[in-house]
Amino acid sequence: MAKQAVTRTYTASIRNQQQVSDDLDSLGFAASKLWNVGRWTCSRVWDEIDYIPEHDELTAYLKSHERYDDLHSQSSQRVLQELAEAFNGWYGKRRNEDTNANPPGYRKHGNDHPRSTVTFKNKGFKLDTRYNRVRLSKGSNLKEYWSDFTLCEYQTRPNVDLSTVENVQQVRAVWAGSEWELHFVCKVEMEVAETPGEKTVGVDLGINNFAALAYEDGHSELYPLNCLKQDDYYFSKRIARCDDSDSEQATRLYQKKSARRTHYFHTLSKHIVQRCVDEDVGTIVVGDLTGIREDEANGESKNWGKHGNLDLHSWAFDRFTDLLTYKAEMKGITVEQVSERDTSKSCSCCGRKRKANRVERGLYVCDECGTVANADVNGAENIRQKVSPSLATDGGDRSNGWLAQPSVYLFDNESGCFAPREQATS
Ligand SMILES: [Zn+2]
Repeated sequence: MAKQAVTRTYTASIRNQQQVSDDLDSLGFAASKLWNVGRWTCSRVWDEIDYIPEHDELTAYLKSHERYDDLHSQSSQRVLQELAEAFNGWYGKRRNEDTNANPPGYRKHGNDHPRSTVTFKNKGFKLDTRYNRVRLSKGSNLKEYWSDFTLCEYQTRPNVDLSTVENVQQVRAVWAGSEWELHFVCKVEMEVAETPGEKTVGVDLGINNFAALAYEDGHSELYPLNCLKQDDYYFSKRIARCDDSDSEQATRLYQKKSARRTHYFHTLSKHIVQRCVDEDVGTIVVGDLTGIREDEANGESKNWGKHGNLDLHSWAFDRFTDLLTYKAEMKGITVEQVSERDTSKSCSCCGRKRKANRVERGLYVCDECGTVANADVNGAENIRQKVSPSLATDGGDRSNGWLAQPSVYLFDNESGCFAPREQATS
């Protein structure tokens, strides 16, 4: 076992909610107002010189703005940083030709401001773990009389003890819909397994096979979505039979459907990490789906929304990648995200990239070298090769069709585990 520093966020409720909610409200509204000032400034600069300022430029520019002093300077800085990050995310999507992406908007509902999250960095909070209290600093504009801070009494979950955490890096006040809660962002030392191996695996996430895995030695695995599709079909039918889609019964069914999906993602990520341990994998390479919408195989837009009966949004893939990263970390395995660009267009055997390469019944057929491979596995192998070049393209010997016969793992509803499907003999 080895020690590794990882970031963890612990959520806590606020016990003196009534005393502090007005204070936190004004901080949350102030964060929205500053965001809007920043947003407006970005538009102005853009109109003048076709350039959107970075967060440090924005901070330098707005430091003397009245709204900047509503919050502690580090909290104000963080708001402008979030705005710059939102703009950067938008550029990324535009670069990937995502025409549906919108630039970050204003935080306003009519004349009201929503309660934005307020972040307090090291100078902006003082934590007292003995009495479970934290002082959150306000900006000079919001100070009343002698008090320049809000004192929150917090309650963490029973298994979390902040007094044992050496390094609390940030406290965030988050509006949870009906009340405020606190998020403590901590660096913690964790016991992790020694890196089990040096090998790599490529993971392609998609809508037919939720995951396709290509290992370095050429073998591959598929995890079809059939069980989620059956589940969705079953629940959609039952929800449709409810008299009212807002009824208690329908709500319960939605919750059950979502809980089962979460369970599926947990089980699958755990299973994949265990497979990686078994196969001496030290690095998992995952395609980064952010902003990629084109389905390169047929030139049409990848539909991340409704697919058959399955309503699977891109956030489901983000959520899965988070779970995989978290579980892999505990085993000392690194997860790297790489761009998915061209990974379904190129032949993973000879590297030939062209539109003419055909995909037939889920098979990738290369006109150049004659490779026939499962299309998702071909994609996964291309993703893997972005981090670790293949033996085959380096002149190693890999016989034709080596990717064509992946093992298929199915989710077994009874045992709640993934089991290999009996190999069909052809
Ligand atoms: Zn080829």
